[in-house]
Amino acid sequence: MNKYLSLIAAAGLLFSCEPKNSEIDYTQLSDAELLELAQEIAQSTIMVDGHVDLPYRMKVGGFTLQREILDVSVRTPDGNFDYPRSKEGGLDAPFMSIYIPAGNQAIPGASKALADSLILMTERLANTFPDKFAMAYSPADVEANFEKGLISLPMGMENGSGLEDDLANVEYFHKRGIRYITLTHGKDNLIGDASYDTTGTHGGLSEYGEKVVAEMNRVGIMVDLSHVSDNTFRDALAITKVPVIASHSSARKFTPGFERNMSDELITAMAENGGVMMINFGGTFIDSAYAAGSSKVREHLVNYMVDNGLSRSDSAFRAYAAEYSAANNPFPTVQRVADHIDHVVSLVGIDHVGFGSDFDGVGDSLPTGLKDVSMFPNLIAELLKRGYSKEDIEKICYKNIFRVWKAVEDYAASQG
Ligand SMILES: [Zn+2]
Repeated sequence: MNKYLSLIAAAGLLFSCEPKNSEIDYTQLSDAELLELAQEIAQSTIMVDGHVDLPYRMKVGGFTLQREILDVSVRTPDGNFDYPRSKEGGLDAPFMSIYIPAGNQAIPGASKALADSLILMTERLANTFPDKFAMAYSPADVEANFEKGLISLPMGMENGSGLEDDLANVEYFHKRGIRYITLTHGKDNLIGDASYDTTGTHGGLSEYGEKVVAEMNRVGIMVDLSHVSDNTFRDALAITKVPVIASHSSARKFTPGFERNMSDELITAMAENGGVMMINFGGTFIDSAYAAGSSKVREHLVNYMVDNGLSRSDSAFRAYAAEYSAANNPFPTVQRVADHIDHVVSLVGIDHVGFGSDFDGVGDSLPTGLKDVSMFPNLIAELLKRGYSKEDIEKICYKNIFRVWKAVEDYAASQG
């Protein structure tokens, strides 16, 4: 009897005939038992995260064009991701975000150049620590790496500006290993309008954007609709031949007016198309009360800095800010993230939701109990507590995103 079954037996739930998983009532387990079971599920199940900003964290650390890479093979004091913590949390395939800031769009060629360098850096990470990390270009690669105990590094490009104005770059980046492209980032680009931009440059997807989506379908790159405006979202959904993803978006229900998250209308449309949305864990994405409360904290800290003649880099200020933020920031909890998953499931069922943490990309805004990749089991325990089955959790962890990824691969293969 493995530990998983022994836990069930301990809870008095194992009867004379072996129950199907769907008949197991995890909600009867104690919190400690739930966490132990969650840890076991996290270890034994492939877990994909739609969005981790490690490459850009490395770039900010000055590593991009140097020989060295940030050594995340060991525990790092900052950031939310490294190998030991990923192993602890059971995370097997974090999509590495090849993130291009919208500022690069002003300089022709700068977006593609940055994408190329971040891809090189991600490959360098896998090459430097081949006993810990491996590149992954397909669900089959992720499965093979998982069998070997390696953490997969699939890549998604966050901001279609990396394509510049050349449709041929879609195929080029597929060859370079990019498996999703987030059509926009913070500002409207050549492809379409962005949720954070109020300009409405194209009114949605541009004509060039329509060609980009068709070409992504043709070569086998997932269409990622995080960051786009509602109009771009609808336009892209209307023309894609395959299901879409949102690699790191949460439900707008909990953040009214925040277009970066998905409205119920868009969640429903995405599900009808067969897609999957991967829930962002960032505080401002999961709770509008956090957004309001944290801006008050920032205001207080700026006043404190000015009143005391300090600068942002003074150690006295940094110490005060850390302590004050920890005590006063209204961090949401892991339960709030589960609320988002519940909401999506109640709207469209279990087949359309996953994890898209945005770890290494949302600063010090993460929920209590979900501060880094080691803490995924806390979220899984919460889902078990709410009555999710092991099969449900497998869908959230990887089966839903694999379904979309394979559909995209199959369609591309059918195009010859
Ligand atoms: Zn993002």
